[in-house]
Amino acid sequence: MSITSNLLTIKQTLPEDVTLVAVSKTKPIPDLMQAYDAGQRIFGENKILEMTDKWETMPKDIQWHMIGHVQTNKVKFMAPYVQLVHGVDSLKLLEEINKQAAKNNRVIDCLLQMYIANEETKFGLDQSELMQIINHIHAHPNQLQHIRIVGLMGMATFTKDETQIKKEFTNLKSIFDSLKQQPTTHNLQPSILSMGMSGDYQLAIQCGSTMVRIGSSIFSE
Ligand SMILES: *Cc1c(COP(=O)(O)O)cnc(C)c1O
Repeated sequence: MSITSNLLTIKQTLPEDVTLVAVSKTKPIPDLMQAYDAGQRIFGENKILEMTDKWETMPKDIQWHMIGHVQTNKVKFMAPYVQLVHGVDSLKLLEEINKQAAKNNRVIDCLLQMYIANEETKFGLDQSELMQIINHIHAHPNQLQHIRIVGLMGMATFTKDETQIKKEFTNLKSIFDSLKQQPTTHNLQPSILSMGMSGDYQLAIQCGSTMVRIGSSIFSE
């Protein structure tokens, strides 16, 4: 199977209101260009420097999503161009993204990453940490003018147990729904629920995902 046909096959199975992020981490630019030529414009990377190299070389109508764990000291490299940061897991990181976005005269969209899995290796906030950030946003309406929280992201446990995965995605969806009940502000406008990868995106969509991050099903044969 080619990248082009993998991509088109996946796109056909996605509902129209679900956004596809083509996860191209570690893949060479010619592979990304095949997906680009097949119409893909949203790419996800998990290392800021690799994403920046690709951004510099590739067509400028691509939207770059940072899907990995973000190191505070590298935010400045992506601040001029990044479209959406999926993995925000602290107020400190949000403040650094805000600072670098301000320097570039931009507002950067962010997803807060929630910890929903049963694995210690995964990153993310628990519900009380999420509420601390949301309360901070509401309490300080004049701070953080250069970020916008547009939703949540999460990763399910790496398992074949579909019941377990469904439970985790359903949990994330209910956190997302309660976040949407919060008063919105200029920098809190949740509409995106980023969940689902190659192995579990169909389940994620059943559970209410609006954005799937798919890598290996597109880029490896
Ligand atoms: C690598 C990665 C993906 C894509 O995983 P595949 O199983 O290759 O589809 C999605 N989300 C994150 C955060 C990743 O690091």
